[in-house]
Amino acid sequence: MEGSYCIGIDIGGTYIKMGLFDAEGGRHAFRRAPSNAAGPPEALLEALVRACRDLMETARLQGGRVVAVGLGVAGKLDTAAGRVVFSPNLPNMAGFALAPRLHEALKMPVFMENDANVFGLGEAWVGQGRNIPNWIGVTLGTGVGGCLIADGALWLGDRLGFSGEIGHMIVDPHGPPCACGQTGCLEAHASGSALIRGMREALSAGETLPERITDALRTGSLTPEDVYGAADSGDPQARRLFQRMGWALGLALGNLFTFLGIESAIIGGGVSQAWDQFHPAMMETLRTVPKMLDPDGIRILRSGLGPLAPLYGAARLAWAGLDRF
Ligand SMILES: [Zn+2]
Repeated sequence: MEGSYCIGIDIGGTYIKMGLFDAEGGRHAFRRAPSNAAGPPEALLEALVRACRDLMETARLQGGRVVAVGLGVAGKLDTAAGRVVFSPNLPNMAGFALAPRLHEALKMPVFMENDANVFGLGEAWVGQGRNIPNWIGVTLGTGVGGCLIADGALWLGDRLGFSGEIGHMIVDPHGPPCACGQTGCLEAHASGSALIRGMREALSAGETLPERITDALRTGSLTPEDVYGAADSGDPQARRLFQRMGWALGLALGNLFTFLGIESAIIGGGVSQAWDQFHPAMMETLRTVPKMLDPDGIRILRSGLGPLAPLYGAARLAWAGLDRF
């Protein structure tokens, strides 16, 4: 479709990122605005409509037109109805029919998927996954998300509204509590929240921690980056948490690789910046625990698109949706 563009939108808790994309994954415009997570959903919708119209004008000035919109939203979604069921980043959006309302305002097809799935679509389109037919995507952030790309396409299972939820696979039934109410999930070992909780527990247990960490814990301002900084400076407690993260990731991926008969994964999300701290333990677990796998065939890659992967994936979602229209 010559001169046609899709708009990709990645709605996060802090920022909304938007871009204008051609069918080959070329990006022609980029916008970023605060998401005002505490505001009402109608205000967010209004801001999205305004920004989409602005991008439609940009497309027109380039001699083209926008044909569809793709949305990536963190949380549990009813994708058939285009509704947000629950979003930890945007609690006020619960129950809001975002996609139909955007469609009504813009008069063009609007498609919606969760953030981990659009991460996978983005990496499969123009990122690290573009030449790998089968792989598992993992996003390490406040929580842990996941997706499965099978034969080059996003796996949606029975369309129950979740698939690829690797974060809630149990890796240790006696492990730490998870935000979902279960104990020992991958997310309880490998997320930003798990790092912060781990440091808090170490302090409660009377361990000696770097002063910066102790101060940040007392004021409630500790971030996963702080824990990484402590590990990087050699703090044994922080290092232990990253080793546990790597072990848990290796175990979850090893189990899934064995079940699916595949050997590739792509890891993204903000906490993947700590790659050098968790990667050795992850690879050691993958090399030694799953006995069916050839250690030399295992391929674990870092996201190629970084924080923009879900934005690219949202645009890819729109293009793929149009093909089925
Ligand atoms: Zn869980």
